[in-house]
Amino acid sequence: MNISCKQFELELKHPFSISKFTRTSTPIMLLKIDFNGVIGYGEASMVPYMGESYESANAFLKLVDWNSIKYPFNFEEIIAYLDSVAPGQPAVKAAIDIALNDISGKILNKPCYEIYGANPDKMPVTSYTIGIDTPDVIREKLKDAENFKVIKVKLGRDNDKEIIETIRSITDVPLYVDANQGWADKIKAIDLIYWLHSQGVVLIEQPMDKNNIEGNAWLTERSPIPLLADEAMQRLADMDNLKGAYHGINVKLMKSCGMYEGHQMILKARSFGMKVLIGCMSETSCATLAAAALAPLCNWADLDGPFLTKNNPFKDLDFQNGRYILKPLPGLGLEGVTSGLFPDTFS
Ligand code: MG
Repeated sequence: MNISCKQFELELKHPFSISKFTRTSTPIMLLKIDFNGVIGYGEASMVPYMGESYESANAFLKLVDWNSIKYPFNFEEIIAYLDSVAPGQPAVKAAIDIALNDISGKILNKPCYEIYGANPDKMPVTSYTIGIDTPDVIREKLKDAENFKVIKVKLGRDNDKEIIETIRSITDVPLYVDANQGWADKIKAIDLIYWLHSQGVVLIEQPMDKNNIEGNAWLTERSPIPLLADEAMQRLADMDNLKGAYHGINVKLMKSCGMYEGHQMILKARSFGMKVLIGCMSETSCATLAAAALAPLCNWADLDGPFLTKNNPFKDLDFQNGRYILKPLPGLGLEGVTSGLFPDTFS
C-alpha cells in the first residue's frame, strides 16, 4: 500500500456559530491509498472541538502498519485493528475506512451505495444549516438556502424564538432544529418543543446536555417531535445506553470511524425502533459522497458540508430538487481530483 495525504484548510462561507463555539475554517486531512494500483480517497474533517488535528492525524497514519491490511474488504477486522493502534481519533480512522471503501467498490466494480444496499432513488432531501446569528445575518444566509427543501437551524442560546420567527417571516419550509445541548431546564425545554412543533419543526437534535440521560429521556417521553442523540453518542458501542432516551440518532461518519461502522449503527438503530439522521461536519465532496452512499438507508439527511464551504477541491456532487443524485460509478464516485493534490507520500 502506498499512502499519501494532504493537509487542507476548508474555508466556511460564513463564520459558523453553534451554542458554544464560532469558527471560520476547518482543518481537513485528505487521504489517498494506492492498493495494488487501485486508488481510493478518504477524508478526515477535524472540527477543533472533537480534539483531532493535522498533527494527531499524521502521527496516527505513521503508527499504522499498512502491510497488515492485506484485504480491504474485511472492515470489521480493519476497524478493530485501527482501534488497537490507538483509542479515539475517529476522523482519521474514518479517512482510512472511506478510502478502503472506495478501493473495495473499485475492485468489485460497484458503487459503494450498491454494496451497502442503498437505493439512490430513495435519497432523502438534505437540509441546509443556518448557525446562530442576528436576524439580519439570518435573512442574508437564507438567500443561500433557496434550493433546499428543508432548513436546519442551530438553537440553544437565549434568542431561539426570535431566530425561528425570523426564518418563518421568509419561508415556510420544514425545519430541523439542533439545540447542541443548549437547553438546561426540562420544563422550559418541553414548552419550547411544543412551540417549535407549532412552527413546523420536524425533528430536534440533542436538546439537553449529553450526560443528562434522564432529562433527555423525560423530554423524549413527552415530545411531539422526534428527539435525536448527537453529542450523546459517537460509536456503535455507545448506542446501548440510548435506547428509550431518544427517538433516534444522528450518525456522522467522522464520529463512527467511517462507512462500515456508520452502517452498523443504522442497522442497530432500526433494530431498536429508532430513527436515523445522517449528518456531516464541514466536509468536501469526498466524505459527503461516503455519507450520501448510506443516506438512502436513513430517515433524514443533513449533508450540506459542500454548500457551507467555499474551496471544495473536488467536483461538486449533482444536486437536484433538494437532494443529491448518486452516479453509477464504482467506489465513492469522487470526481475532479487534480494531479497536484497529494504531494506528501510517506509510506
Ligand atoms: Mg448536531
